[in-house]
Amino acid sequence: MNVRDSEAVEALLIAAGHTKASSEADAELLIVNSCTVRQKAEEKAVGKTGYLCTTGKIVGLMGCAVKRLGENVFKKLPKLNFAVGPRALGLIPKIVSDGRFPRLELGDEGLGDALSAHTGNGFQAFVTVLVGCDNRCSYCIVPDVRGHEYSRPAREVIAEVRALVKRGVKEVCLLGQSVLRYGVRNPAWDENDSPSPGGYNEPFPRLLEALSSIEGLERIRFTSAHPAGCTDELLRAYRQFPQVCRHLHLPVQSGSDRILADMGRRYTRSEYLKAVEKLRQFDPEFALTTDVIVGYPGETSEDFEETRSLMQEAQFDNAFIFKYSPRPGTRSAAKEDDVLKEEKERRDQVLLADQEKRGLERNRALIGTERDVLVEGPSKRNKSRLSGRDSGNRIVVWDMIEGSAPAPAGSIVKVRILDAHAQILLGEIV
Ligand code: SAH
Ligand code: SF4
Repeated sequence: MNVRDSEAVEALLIAAGHTKASSEADAELLIVNSCTVRQKAEEKAVGKTGYLCTTGKIVGLMGCAVKRLGENVFKKLPKLNFAVGPRALGLIPKIVSDGRFPRLELGDEGLGDALSAHTGNGFQAFVTVLVGCDNRCSYCIVPDVRGHEYSRPAREVIAEVRALVKRGVKEVCLLGQSVLRYGVRNPAWDENDSPSPGGYNEPFPRLLEALSSIEGLERIRFTSAHPAGCTDELLRAYRQFPQVCRHLHLPVQSGSDRILADMGRRYTRSEYLKAVEKLRQFDPEFALTTDVIVGYPGETSEDFEETRSLMQEAQFDNAFIFKYSPRPGTRSAAKEDDVLKEEKERRDQVLLADQEKRGLERNRALIGTERDVLVEGPSKRNKSRLSGRDSGNRIVVWDMIEGSAPAPAGSIVKVRILDAHAQILLGEIV
């Protein structure tokens, strides 16, 4: 989501006549995009901004940490020129051209401008379809900083994706904190929109249907998901539209019903696992990734073992493990942060080691298969290799062979898998 926001600001500034500097040292204007989902993320962004403020250049801070800090941002960073919350990014070009500093913007003004601004570089694009969040999980600061949930009109999203595809985009990733809730809080479709040819009633599957009919769009991804959104209609859309990628990021957070209830996640362990089973039944190679929090207040070793066993049952392909950090103003921040730092670290390491092993086993099972891979370009580690991703978002790497057909970035090629690591598949072009 932050990568998307940075891109939008870049596009808006370029449209206003600015040019992108080749390096930090070259720039006259520097803007740091901040995250505040964990304390460490915020400290990093504020620390970096503090350093930039010593360079004498124009410096701005944008994003979630600004919204959380409010006026206090200038106490922490007295030399900062401007600070803009995550829903006011569209104001940045005007703030820069006005040059009246210091300036603080925390509202919603300019939201629409930022949502639709794209640089149009490359063949992959993020498209925000759902802004904000109303779920209020106990530990989470996102609703406070990103504001209420709002679904962009489907017509606007479809027109945007069409325009992106015209500019060469092959893959879009639809963004929302709980993206399957698209069109639930406010309607995304209105009576004037043509009916769904496939008879889809739920707003998100209907959006997938509409985007699947765009000629030239090869892949549709979306993130993040909640198990309640894994409906039969969503499954039907997966089945019907091959462009919809066989991967879902389905954050579970914990495997303990007691902790899940305290977190206010609105599903039980067994409901979560039912959603997993549905997806894996539909396609055994379906890739599932997740987020987990270790060391939530009151998490006992039994709770932790429940998380461990859930991860094994769900057979995740990849997982992001986070050590709990209390965020001011959230419900769980009122509870004692009682799991010791060392114990959080230990639980983190245990889950990482489990996942490494599981990821390797799951990837090994794909040896011998042929996979459609969207080429991303030369591999970072070895320039004589190409790298891309399969439908399950798995990284696939293969050797460039002299004399074989070119595989430019953005094209789809078939790769046969010969070997596997926990995070990467190695193959040969077919
Ligand atoms: N909307 C997504 C999550 C967005 S935040 C969802 O509900 O699935 C990204 C991840 O950060 C979360 O999934 C969670 O694992 C982690 N996270 C959020 N708040 C946290 C906190 N206070 N401490 C540690 N991790 C946190
Ligand atoms: Fe945070 Fe929960 Fe909303 Fe995700 S769904 S952003 S974890 S409040």
